[in-house]
Amino acid sequence: MRVLITGGAGFLGSHLCDYLLAQGHSVVAMDNLLTGSMDNIAHLAGRDDFSFVKHDVTNYVFVKGPLDAVLHFASPASPVDYLTYPIPTLKVGALGTHKALGLALAKGARFLLASTSEVYGDPLVNPQPEDYWGNVNPIGPRGVYDEAKRFAEAMTMAYHRYHQLDTRIARIFNTYGPRMRLNDGRAVPNFLHQALTRQPLTVYGDGSQTRSFCYVDDEVRGFYKLLMSDEHRPVNIGNPSEMNILDFARTVLEVTGSKSEITFVDPTDERVVDDPKVRRPDITRAREVLGWEPTVELREGLGKTLAYFQDRM
Ligand code: UDP
Repeated sequence: MRVLITGGAGFLGSHLCDYLLAQGHSVVAMDNLLTGSMDNIAHLAGRDDFSFVKHDVTNYVFVKGPLDAVLHFASPASPVDYLTYPIPTLKVGALGTHKALGLALAKGARFLLASTSEVYGDPLVNPQPEDYWGNVNPIGPRGVYDEAKRFAEAMTMAYHRYHQLDTRIARIFNTYGPRMRLNDGRAVPNFLHQALTRQPLTVYGDGSQTRSFCYVDDEVRGFYKLLMSDEHRPVNIGNPSEMNILDFARTVLEVTGSKSEITFVDPTDERVVDDPKVRRPDITRAREVLGWEPTVELREGLGKTLAYFQDRM
């Protein structure tokens, strides 16, 4: 296959480039480098089966030659990033998804949307199955991301129903690993960076909110299985092992051997508004339809991520 990956220089996009190339496909990576980085794909430069296009996918997308698949991964994806770039976040989820779908239709390509557990908002059901419709505040600070991704899913289904486009929707839960930006503001890079520099680990609120962290290699393997399946309904791709953020901070201290303290950030802080209180994927569908489940344990994955961060620092 010849595959276009929007957001190809980002954290997930760049790992997806590597995975598809390793499977023998050729890859065109597109990125406007707003939150992505050429460092993530520098090792691919000069390969015949790889090319990079700097382009903002919210504008008309032109790609020369045939495409068999379009994987739409472009978007700021950390809460701090979408607080910094609220309008580009809305535009890439809405206009960018429309452009990427239009391109897939024109090329007769399969389309895969990188959607998110944020479509469930602050969920009233735990774990979250795909048929839960969510609890999203459209006008809160996170609304720019959540609503753009909800629109993106609706647009993807409209192309599927109206144009018979061959579509996939991956709902991505918290994922971590090498190539996360040290300053992207998410819990994993923040805590690792703070632990390594002996600064206090900043737990937002009281730390009782839960998340379920998936190592990037597991996640990307799930995307590929979904792409190669014929499932057009949304599929949760995430790790169902749930823990609260205070325990997660303690785990980071253990893995790093750090003597940092833990501090608690005021729950009225902008970064804490509408923070989902629980999050855990129900992966029954992924298990049954894709034969997929994660295999990397948290401590193992954190160890690999730690090695990357130490190297970068
Ligand atoms: N969090 C935290 N301290 C930080 C960064 C994040 O306590 O320095 C919390 C955040 O409030 C959330 C969880 O960790 O409850 C995961 O946050 P992250 O930004 O990684 O992803 P989210 O799940 O919010 O998209």
